[in-house]
Amino acid sequence: MESSKSFQDLGLQKRTLRRLAEIGYESPSPIQREFIPVALTGKDCIGQARTGTGKTAAFMLPSLELVDSADRVVQVLVLAPTRELSEQVHAESRRLAGDSRIRFALCVGGRPMGQQIDDLQAGAQIVIGTPGRVQDLMKRGHLRFDDLEIVVLDEADRMLDIGFRPDIERILRACPKDRQTLLLSATMAPEVVRLANRYMESPASVDLSEDRVMVETIEQFYVTVDEDRKLPLLLRILALEKPRQVIVFTRTKRGADKLFEVFSRRLKSDRVACMHGDLPQRKRDRVIRSLRSGQLRLLIATDVVGRGIDISGISHIINYDIPEYCDDYVHRVGRTGRLSSDENGRAVTFVTVAQGGELTNIEKRINDVLPQYVVEGFEAFRQKKREQRSVRRFGPQNS
Ligand code: AMP
Repeated sequence: MESSKSFQDLGLQKRTLRRLAEIGYESPSPIQREFIPVALTGKDCIGQARTGTGKTAAFMLPSLELVDSADRVVQVLVLAPTRELSEQVHAESRRLAGDSRIRFALCVGGRPMGQQIDDLQAGAQIVIGTPGRVQDLMKRGHLRFDDLEIVVLDEADRMLDIGFRPDIERILRACPKDRQTLLLSATMAPEVVRLANRYMESPASVDLSEDRVMVETIEQFYVTVDEDRKLPLLLRILALEKPRQVIVFTRTKRGADKLFEVFSRRLKSDRVACMHGDLPQRKRDRVIRSLRSGQLRLLIATDVVGRGIDISGISHIINYDIPEYCDDYVHRVGRTGRLSSDENGRAVTFVTVAQGGELTNIEKRINDVLPQYVVEGFEAFRQKKREQRSVRRFGPQNS
């Protein structure tokens, strides 16, 4: 990731910089670069960014700097939609805190309350949890926010989707008026905007939504192909790219099933899977787990995966069928690319002669011109329009 700004330029304290060096964070991610300086001023701030972009450190580093470890009261509250995300935020926050004496409490549902109450009574300064459990602990008198300095609403859109609005509002009303509010959200859905308008004071806004992150971390190409040569081209690209993990997107369930048939003959059954709207939720969850664990190498999917499911860091995306809607392109390609690795994601979109216009629409949507990926023996055709502009040509990785 390229950026001229380093962690030193963001206004962070020396001990924070030392800690970042210790854990190997060399340069700030885009959301960190833009969000941290604003958050450090004490202003309310909205950051539009999704999971995997480094958003936890973006809100947690300014929070950690503010906490007085000698004062055993709750000073920072982070609300997150799920137990899993709360646990991730907790783990990342503790890593960032290093051996500072800051005390944390993780307050999530589905876990015994006893330990959580003990941690609070021991003087937790940073509380991370789901709105339901936090509210519950408040009601029982174990949590008070009289000395709260910062409240963070992480993945605000998902919290509202889940139906946490009443809990969130009750919690926010129990926080001091002069607190700082930081809100992180992948989308700025109207409900999120309403919440922000109601509970934040002239917030600054940092937009690092999927489109912008995508441009920086994902190498995107189009490849021309004749309709009847798509499968041989796919096999060739897989052989050339040797992807660590790949999602191949098709437009239809039938198309996905057909490809799955081809690959299930070639690969071991735990290495390839197919996912579309007909698959029951339980099976989808299993597929996603296996993709996250790295066991699954090839997933053939329709847009259900692009839209609803939270996966990032897939090394390759192949749009075997060009997506019908430009937004689906953004969602599909957003499944690759991440910050914690040096490896950039790659996305290749198959385009037939008839689909030149659709490619142009995608390019308008992402405000970028895709370079052509050329595979020898597959130069199906060349569009005149494309020949006129300077076509950047790329081959397979490492060649
Ligand atoms: P997050 O979006 O906060 O869930 O972070 C995604 C992953 O990126 C986590 O594993 C972080 O540890 C890692 N990460 C966050 N910021 C940086 C950074 N500046 N340099 C390297 N890795 C990072």
